[in-house]
Amino acid sequence: MHMMDTPLTIAQILRRARDFFPKNEIVSRLQDGIFRYTYNDLYDRVLRLSGVMADLGVERGDKIATLAWNDHRHLEAYFAMPVMGAVIHTVNIRLAPEQIVYILNHAEDKVLLFDETLLPLVEGIRPYLQTVKAFVMMTGKNAGDFSATSIQPLYFYEELLAKRAPHDSLPNDIHENDPCGMCYTSATTGNPKGVVYTHRAMFLHSLASGLADTLALSETDVILPFVPMFHVNAWGLPFSATMFGSKQVLPGPMPTPQVLLELYEQEKVTLSAGVPTVWLGILQLLDQHPGKYDTSSIRGLVSGGAPAPKGMIKAFKERHHIDIFQAYGMTETAPLALASRLKPRLAETLDNEQKLDYAAMQGLLVPGLEMQIVNEQGEVPWDGETIGELLLRGPWIAGEYYRDSRTESTFVDGWLHTGDMVTVNEEGYIRIVDRAKDLVKSGGEWISSVDIENALMAHPAVLEAAVIGVAHPKWQERPLAFVVLKESEKGKVSKQNIIDFITPQFAKWWLPDDVVFLDAIPKTSVGKFLKRSLREDFAKHYQD
Ligand code: ADP
Repeated sequence: MHMMDTPLTIAQILRRARDFFPKNEIVSRLQDGIFRYTYNDLYDRVLRLSGVMADLGVERGDKIATLAWNDHRHLEAYFAMPVMGAVIHTVNIRLAPEQIVYILNHAEDKVLLFDETLLPLVEGIRPYLQTVKAFVMMTGKNAGDFSATSIQPLYFYEELLAKRAPHDSLPNDIHENDPCGMCYTSATTGNPKGVVYTHRAMFLHSLASGLADTLALSETDVILPFVPMFHVNAWGLPFSATMFGSKQVLPGPMPTPQVLLELYEQEKVTLSAGVPTVWLGILQLLDQHPGKYDTSSIRGLVSGGAPAPKGMIKAFKERHHIDIFQAYGMTETAPLALASRLKPRLAETLDNEQKLDYAAMQGLLVPGLEMQIVNEQGEVPWDGETIGELLLRGPWIAGEYYRDSRTESTFVDGWLHTGDMVTVNEEGYIRIVDRAKDLVKSGGEWISSVDIENALMAHPAVLEAAVIGVAHPKWQERPLAFVVLKESEKGKVSKQNIIDFITPQFAKWWLPDDVVFLDAIPKTSVGKFLKRSLREDFAKHYQD
């Protein structure tokens, strides 16, 4: 052994915050107001929660589920389970109840921690849960406030913590390859697929998120994850922000764009993270109320989970002086895999429009990971044109799905097949052309729904746009566009106007054959456009 083989664990991240940043703040928006404390307090309560879990019979390797919004109690659970060798399994509260039941039974979760606001959901699924032995409501209230509930055995978070001394015999032999967390993808077809994260993966992912050319996280940051803590661990931010001692602002139950903008101003947030539909909502509010919100503390909004439209990036920059940083990843990649930063040489030579083109790409591979982009002919040239599927491997890329036969088709010869069709240019920048299943196949050629959506969302009257391929008697599939107009523009813009606007940018056969105006594009449980539902509802649109 030439170098020491010390384990990379979540406990180290937590201890670092206590030792070096004990006074730095964590701010949590609760139903009844704002709660604040420090990393020192976090440390104390994490150890109490570990003790509580041990009292409830939790052992190493056990999986503990959460159904919760982003708040300080959820953050405590993020650390309390891993430091005792258990696994924190964050469950998506917006999935259908049947899917939540499937996930909890499939993971064999032993304890369920849940928010008070989600009591009705938990009451509904309780009879179908096969492995959960104890329920803990994350609230300051107690049994007297909930005499009507049938959930058994039910405990109350603050009551348990107040009574329990910090756990004083945490295991010190946790291996870095032991599991510490778990998430299921919000599968669009079939049952959700589970991914188990290890201490090492989360630790290295946190380090990677701090690099200057990825998210550049540091103690100077005030980080607000809008992305839910049940969507790929809020993109790892609860771990990475703690590692770097950044102030954290957790936006609590049902945050709206207005709540976010108020928190940005009050807490002087520097970095916030979410899916593009959230930023579209924020942009609309900023446009409607010029000067009302002070966003001057923001150094960047991290946009991931779906393509960030170029028009949106441009509008933020030009009208509000806010930078959008695009990042790409999946549940299977923990998630950070690509990050879009402009190389200094390009920054010097490109004009504004070209810089925006780069900002709308998903970016460069994060250090530590490896990639291949392949089509039927093998690896594609770095020409920015040839399309292939992105394959990834590395220390924070999953090697399998948890107890799932779908592992075989996704993880092949040591590579994760992402299902994302991409190009890579001579600089190494990757552009997601489309998810393989969303590409429109027209007359034997591919049309990128993402490109058309980007063009549509650059129209000044358009709030949201989605494009799908619809079966066509002659061309196999043809693109169909869905457009949501901004409130003030409703009824004023015609289909032809929309098509005319994007016509100069595309070959004629790329243009959608029709445009459907909607009040809202249906969204997935994590706020992405739900194309499956549009495909179902409009399957016969070109056949009537
Ligand atoms: P789900 O499959 O339920 O949407 P994930 O959040 O794991 O759950 O989705 C990962 C997928 O999201 C990626 O495979 C990719 O298609 C898409 N994605 C993530 N980030 C980006 C991005 N910045 N640009 C384009 N697509 C993205």
